[in-house]
Amino acid sequence: MVQGDGKGVGVVQQVRQGYTLDQARTRLLAALNPLPGRDDCPLPQARGRVLAAPLVAPRAVPGFRASSMDGYALRTVDGRPGEPLPVVGCSAAGAPYGCPLQPGQAVRIFTGAVVPDGADAVAPQEDVQLVQGETSGPMVTLETSVRSGQWIRSPQEEAAAGEQLGGVGQRLSSVDVARALACGLCTAQVYSRPRVTLLITGSELRPAGDPLPPGTICDSNGPLLLSLLERLGLTVADQQWVGDDPQRLETALLTLAGCSDVLISTGGVSVGDEDHVRPLLERLGTLQFWRLFLKPGRPFATGTMAGARFFGLPGNPVSAAVTFLQLVWPALQVLEGAAPEPWPRLQVRLATPLRRRPGRPELVRARLTTDHRGKPLATPCGDQSSARLASLHGADLLLEIDASATELPAGTAVMAQLLRLPVL
Ligand code: AMP
Ligand code: MG
Repeated sequence: MVQGDGKGVGVVQQVRQGYTLDQARTRLLAALNPLPGRDDCPLPQARGRVLAAPLVAPRAVPGFRASSMDGYALRTVDGRPGEPLPVVGCSAAGAPYGCPLQPGQAVRIFTGAVVPDGADAVAPQEDVQLVQGETSGPMVTLETSVRSGQWIRSPQEEAAAGEQLGGVGQRLSSVDVARALACGLCTAQVYSRPRVTLLITGSELRPAGDPLPPGTICDSNGPLLLSLLERLGLTVADQQWVGDDPQRLETALLTLAGCSDVLISTGGVSVGDEDHVRPLLERLGTLQFWRLFLKPGRPFATGTMAGARFFGLPGNPVSAAVTFLQLVWPALQVLEGAAPEPWPRLQVRLATPLRRRPGRPELVRARLTTDHRGKPLATPCGDQSSARLASLHGADLLLEIDASATELPAGTAVMAQLLRLPVL
């Protein structure tokens, strides 16, 4: 469970160092279950929601044999090149030719239109000659032979009747939504979204735009977490800013925890005299664990308070962002009924040397480029101070660097997490 040989040594090390990221994630996620709420969500608004019941196609789609070309529907037995066939009608998308095709006939047809019964092939219009007979109507002559079934979509090409389009725990993509709507479904039963509240702590903090007396700084954690949550489709039900005052912190913590499923705080969770959040969590709720063996993000605490899951993120903005992405986000996914999807990992090579102080495993912020053969390269985003938001600016990757690493020359292969959300 923890680094170290003997059990006792391991526990002592854990207390001193904190959990590795993997240990912390495993412990945290094992303690969580999906929230009980369910919503019937109109499908057009369901992208990003997590299915609480399977989505099942009520019928086959498209439900009829459809042409996938503009051309002529005919029987292959009649389709001998050079022999004209009378064109007896037209089947357009949404306006079928209502009768079965008789032997020796052809029907003008367009993409998406019903292929008349009796026809078993569509000859594309590029492969035929159309002539207007003097006494008869239009006649079509094939230039090449046709194959049975050509340019005809099967009635269940998109989905068979009863086919499962999505399973419980699946987060719906734009494509999933479009496909379910294409199959005639209107709503999806999804898990309710967790109600999230934010508590930004620190006596030095002011909202951007307010006057800044000496020693104060603008809050960046609040806006950053709000927008990260928004990217994940979550809105914040309530947010408060409180200085390092235990009494006011206690009131704010209990108020926010009492009206949310998840309360996220930043700041005040380290070991300084003004760091009141962890002791308050221990007193007002239950501390599950505190401290990570990780850089950035050592002072991280989680537990429960007034029925809410509590996350105490560090105050340093990069530490807050990284611990949010590594621990809070997967936890939010579990609470919302989804299997937590880890960030995709890939092997990259350092484009420039990396020098660092050994001690803790590090997630180094880096940009992704490619070399002349298209192989992935990582360029660290400068000074990796956890106070420096600029180290996250333009970062596509978090490089997973071992605790003991000191000097890594350019070209070193390292594993990296790819911080990208799917477009679809
Ligand atoms: P703390 O975790 O409270 O010890 O804060 C660590 C560092 O992060 C200090 O330099 C704080 O000023 C800074 N910090 C804390 N909260 C925020 C915030 N919301 N926005 C920007 N910086 C912060
Ligand atoms: Mg502080």
